Amino acid sequence: MHETSIVNSIMRTLEMEFEAEKLQKMKAIYLKVGVLSNIEPRLLHNAYGAYNYCGSKYHNVDLHIESTAIKIQCEVCNHITLVEQYKFLCENCGRPSKNIIQGEEMLIHKIEFED
Ligand SMILES: [Zn+2]
Repeated sequence: MHETSIVNSIMRTLEMEFEAEKLQKMKAIYLKVGVLSNIEPRLLHNAYGAYNYCGSKYHNVDLHIESTAIKIQCEVCNHITLVEQYKFLCENCGRPSKNIIQGEEMLIHKIEFED
């Protein structure tokens, strides 16, 4: 259900952002979904499919979801580390860090339109 409301809010955002005429030419939506965002790409795809049932105005629009990895920035040395296997340790100085700068977000990365 969570994913359904996400799809609704994405479509609402697009409808506020673009003219209806432009949206008719929309070909694809590209999302970036953080590993820690609590959004399951598979469920989001399902929810999107349900929202854009055949015959709805966006049923030709593809949804692409890219997972974004977790990055932390060390409070001590400011080094940015790509977190692997949930090890929240600075790779530069070895200190643990919970200062997450990427991986919790869900964002509309790109919209593709027909020419
Ligand atoms: Zn550090």
